[in-house]
Amino acid sequence: MTRTDVPSFIAQERRLVTEIPGPRSRALEARRGAAVADGVSTSLPVYIAAGSGAVLVDVDGNALIDLGSGIAVTGVGHAEESVVDAVQEQVARFSHTCFMVTPYESYVAVCEELNTVTPGDGAKVSALFNSGAEAVENAVKIARHATGRQAVVVFDHAYHGRTNLTMALTAKSMPYKDGFGPFAPEVYRVPVSYPFRDPEAMSGPEAAERALRLIETQVGADNVACVLIEPIQGEGGFVVPAPGFLAALASWCTAHGALFVADEIQTGFCRTGDWFACQHEGVVPDLVTTAKGIAGGMPLAAVTGRAEIMNAVHVGGLGGTYGGNPVACSAALAAIALMRHRDLAGAARRIGDVVLERLRSLQGAHDAIGDIRGRGAMCAFELVQPGTKKADPEATGAIVRACHAAGVVVLSCGTFGNVIRLLPPLVIGEELLREGLDVLSEATTSILGAR
Ligand SMILES: *Cc1c(COP(=O)(O)O)cnc(C)c1O
Repeated sequence: MTRTDVPSFIAQERRLVTEIPGPRSRALEARRGAAVADGVSTSLPVYIAAGSGAVLVDVDGNALIDLGSGIAVTGVGHAEESVVDAVQEQVARFSHTCFMVTPYESYVAVCEELNTVTPGDGAKVSALFNSGAEAVENAVKIARHATGRQAVVVFDHAYHGRTNLTMALTAKSMPYKDGFGPFAPEVYRVPVSYPFRDPEAMSGPEAAERALRLIETQVGADNVACVLIEPIQGEGGFVVPAPGFLAALASWCTAHGALFVADEIQTGFCRTGDWFACQHEGVVPDLVTTAKGIAGGMPLAAVTGRAEIMNAVHVGGLGGTYGGNPVACSAALAAIALMRHRDLAGAARRIGDVVLERLRSLQGAHDAIGDIRGRGAMCAFELVQPGTKKADPEATGAIVRACHAAGVVVLSCGTFGNVIRLLPPLVIGEELLREGLDVLSEATTSILGAR
């Protein structure tokens, strides 16, 4: 296919021409069964042939509205033109040299962008990697090296990846950790601020106090290399901490010589209506991990932080064969430029207004929607047995499946599997967004109404 064959002719509309999944997708799914390891799961077995903006077209010719962005990756939209151009241009020049062997400008330029857009005014530097998990692993390496300490504090409902260290950092056993131990040591878990499930009226600073007392008594403040947290938890259920929680943790870190590390892998790059979620709380982390939305769909990740912390690591202590691959770096530069020029943070705030208004009216109609929450284009609702806070993963799965059958990609999440999350591309048009939400509302009403 040439460039002009693919995305530009894809209308921004939902169009179903077969059942979902269609016959070609089902044939591919059968082939997959014999070829692909069962451990790799799939939410919606519809095989994709092309994408554009907020629409995915499958091999049967169905056009789906994407409210998941490949898990918060394609914020700039599928096959975004400037990203496609940058990738094609770079891959034709050279695709790899290894920055540790012979460097190239785009790696430096991505680091410059990261040092500019991440929170904090002081001197910062960055290092580039391939995946979110790899970025988190490296943030921990850097924090340990810079502080000379070992303990890493993480939270209930946290998700930080699937490698050995990041499995230890992740809270949920099934499916991420079950049977994969032993896990890395010196990882300590404390309660997060989860307003819907915390005691009534527990403030952010009170929730921080609850966590910090445990750290002080069970770990010892002087042993803590870093406190690692998602400013809004992603896989754990889009948990937005109470105001003041993050700031209290960050100031405790400063007072005790520990580093505050923000895992902004899911929340970063305009998703929550600002460049990074920490900014809503005025918190400046010592280190920030990024990935997902950074490069318009190409695999890239980074650790960015205060220069004196990052540069504490000896020369040669950080790196990897592919980290900061030139094609991924070119894509990131195009994606970041687009975020700036099209004000995708503002777009995310407008998306959030539309989504939250719709979720509020749904909640008004259904007692089973226990909580709605989120920021910008990262919103979710939590399904419970009416009148209780008992999770209802069955209703959640049924609503997600009904959306899929109607041609709208939505994802679930949450420690209890009872949260439906919305992560539309930030470039989605309002009409298409509203149509996707109509489908979600109808699915929710028909599933919950039938109970
Ligand atoms: C997805 C995610 C990761 C892991 O990223 P991968 O690229 O899948 O390794 C880590 N932290 C958070 C908050 C994430 O959402």
